[in-house]
Amino acid sequence: MSFSLAIVGRPNVGKSTLFNRLVGKRLALVDDQPGVTRDLREGEARLSDLRFTVIDTAGLENETDDSLPARMRRLTERAVEEADICLFLIDARAGILPDDEVFAEILRRRAGHVILAANKAEGSAADGGVIEAYSLGLGEPIRLSAEHGQGLDELYQVLLPLS
Ligand code: GDP
Ligand code: MG
Repeated sequence: MSFSLAIVGRPNVGKSTLFNRLVGKRLALVDDQPGVTRDLREGEARLSDLRFTVIDTAGLENETDDSLPARMRRLTERAVEEADICLFLIDARAGILPDDEVFAEILRRRAGHVILAANKAEGSAADGGVIEAYSLGLGEPIRLSAEHGQGLDELYQVLLPLS
């Protein structure tokens, strides 16, 4: 059975980088500037022998605003409703920020599968952020590096029983 996986999280945590790695084509726009992906974006993902639909979320209207814009929250809630599984990314180098808590709250309310992953986790600079991620109340985080392709085997192991 195939399933759909939505990648959610605040801007700049590496959602589009992971999307591109899973899809293998540059379908989503990646940029240093937060919130550069404007809408939901779908692709056909491959992870070892798993095939599934992956959804990249974004949609910041105002990048200079400190608070998380309502549009981004709405997009995330839509993705959360539509997808079978949510992969919630945090930036392990930045640690847990207030906006991460906003997403965690949306996801804790949700019935269904939520996978927590601490991205940018290559190297020891990420260790503190990985520990902090436990405080989100969403279980044990997977250590990921979307940019370097690390932790994808752990992601596979978590997705396999859900597929
Ligand atoms: P998004 O806003 O969540 O979609 O984040 P992007 O995928 O656009 O990535 C934001 C920035 O983080 C870019 O500069 C990426 O190159 C960088 N990035 C993404 N994944 C990693 C990672 O695993 N490690 C590090 N160090 N940087 C990453
Ligand atoms: Mg993006």
